[in-house]
Amino acid sequence: TVQMYWEPLFRKEQLTGFILVHRDITTEYNADKMKSELVSTVSHELRTPLASILGFTELLLKKTLSPERQQKYLNNIYQESKRLTALINDFLDLQRMESNKQDYFREKLKIYPLLKEVLEELSVHSSNHQLKLEVKDTEVEMYGDKDKLKQLFQNIIQNAIKYSPHGGEVITRVDLNEDNLIIKVVDFGLGIPREAIPQLFTKFYRVDNTDRRKIGGTGLGLSISKEIVRAHQGQISVESELGIGTTFIIQLPKTETPKIIKEQGSKKS
Ligand code: ADP
Repeated sequence: TVQMYWEPLFRKEQLTGFILVHRDITTEYNADKMKSELVSTVSHELRTPLASILGFTELLLKKTLSPERQQKYLNNIYQESKRLTALINDFLDLQRMESNKQDYFREKLKIYPLLKEVLEELSVHSSNHQLKLEVKDTEVEMYGDKDKLKQLFQNIIQNAIKYSPHGGEVITRVDLNEDNLIIKVVDFGLGIPREAIPQLFTKFYRVDNTDRRKIGGTGLGLSISKEIVRAHQGQISVESELGIGTTFIIQLPKTETPKIIKEQGSKKS
């Protein structure tokens, strides 16, 4: 994209001519385009739950309804409000992380108890899944932000559960090499179509097919996960086969390399 304009030319304060200036504004143009796309996606994502909340509230106010109907509509309003809150919180978290404004607290931690805690919390709501944890060295330590790492594993393991709607095993395995912890989260659920994999970590991206239409989500979990891994100087990748299952692989350095992480960061909540 090129911007053109005439620049006046002066000599000894006398106007002597004009210069035609061509300026390449592709970068600005693309940034603007991305910004307006983001604004329209965000407004769409906010409007959808808000429209349901308004609709059900109107029904409750206008009509004489049976107590069962009232209960049903109130429950819909409650669920949509929860979705809206989660969406706004996720979106703000992600904005803060992407603009490097997120403080990370740096501490020495053991990965085994952290994963155990995440799995115990998730198992309360997933009775038809067997959540397994395989760790050879339960004492292994690393440096990082405990809360943020917890959020990362919650996202990935919760997805493994959510996208295995018929139940089954979800295995979290920790391996080690010289410098890194390698954490794999394996499920035997719906899997991911090959063509969706490159877009998986894009904001608001959700795989759209009939199998998963009923499964709730914001499409922000994996973008947040990617940011947390980035802050810890790690890597995240995925292997998946449709109808067979999915493995997320997270590599985190064991040693004291993290750059973004602040030594005695004032924790923002
Ligand atoms: P969402 O809120 O939709 O779960 P995420 O960013 O966490 O958003 O994930 C993006 C999409 O990736 C999901 O909508 C889902 O289709 C797909 N996905 C993520 N994890 C898995 C998994 N373990 N198995 C199958 N599909 C997955």
